[in-house]
Amino acid sequence: MQTLTLRCTLKPTPEQAAALEKTVHLFTQACNHTLWVARERREFRRFKLHHLVYKDLRGMGLSANLAVQVVARVGRRQGNRAKAYRPTSCAFDQRTLSLRGEAVSLSTVSGRMRVPMKLGEYQRQVLGKAVSVQGGVLVRGSKGRWHIYLTLRVEVPEPPQGGGKVVGVDLGQRALATLSTGVQFSGGPLKGKRLHYLRKRAEIRSKLDRPSLRTRGVKRLWARLGGREARFVNHTLHTLARRIVDSLEPGDTLAIEDLTGLRGRTRRRGPEERYLHELWPYARFRSFLEYKARLRGIRVVAVDPKHTSQECPRCGHTARENRKTQSLFRCVACGFQHNADWVAATNIARRAGSTGMGRCKPAPILRVSSPHRPPSESPSQNTLVLG
Ligand SMILES: [Zn+2]
Repeated sequence: MQTLTLRCTLKPTPEQAAALEKTVHLFTQACNHTLWVARERREFRRFKLHHLVYKDLRGMGLSANLAVQVVARVGRRQGNRAKAYRPTSCAFDQRTLSLRGEAVSLSTVSGRMRVPMKLGEYQRQVLGKAVSVQGGVLVRGSKGRWHIYLTLRVEVPEPPQGGGKVVGVDLGQRALATLSTGVQFSGGPLKGKRLHYLRKRAEIRSKLDRPSLRTRGVKRLWARLGGREARFVNHTLHTLARRIVDSLEPGDTLAIEDLTGLRGRTRRRGPEERYLHELWPYARFRSFLEYKARLRGIRVVAVDPKHTSQECPRCGHTARENRKTQSLFRCVACGFQHNADWVAATNIARRAGSTGMGRCKPAPILRVSSPHRPPSESPSQNTLVLG
């Protein structure tokens, strides 16, 4: 069993949209009131806070369940640093939210209503595996679109024991991801777009630095650009994770470098490189990979990232000199040479194989390639470009 969040777009009628709007507004007002009371009384513990504000919240016209959600959002053990809440979202629990086929039933200030959802292939697939819904967050997105982030309990298939191959994935800059199976996912559009945003942001920042140019429009543009970029990156990472997982079979093991494998491995260059480097959201990508993999019955293991790009997959000789260039690996001991990303992915797969998580099949290319035969530098015939 696994808990995951599924984002669905809603298709409310104009009347429903108005009710959602009102609900979010009331919810936010209630949050801000609760925050104010909590500050006044210096009491942020949920249980105590609940007693302090419950009557007020009910008096504002909030349902009992939504009042509980308000306290849950504001209350913290350590106090709450938020200045104020903005009217963009509202939380629901099991009693105020339920699923009705391809619609979600919500209790709003205008009573219970059934709002249709716009579902894609992926959403249908996940909903089909859902055992129960724990609640959700209603969010008003840009252009007045409404989304619901459903918290679902999902039946997870037990990965078949034995058999299955171990596939290593290397995350990089030029190629976003390289699998030890030879498949490579290009980072072209991601990199280009992020650089575009980088330049755009620099331009706006210079305006923000000069008081005469710091207009409200410029400030708003700044905020909007950040949101747009974040959404684009998230979408790309989701797509990438799904493609990687879809290229494997249930029972396989996916090996990934443990945590900050990417950081500090490639030599840093200019500020643009550094920017891309620091913003490759490894942790987020890994969590996407992990839950998508689990849903397909694929194990994910993390391995020691040390020298994965410097170790020779044939003779084991490890040296910085093995890395001829950013893209080419050539072992100084035995002469084995190959695409550097693929070598890293293969080393990652082998390390996972040796932890007893399943047998590791050496990639076939290892047997084909020998120092007497010029090996192909990159497995580019398999390259997929993310769109
Ligand atoms: Zn070697």
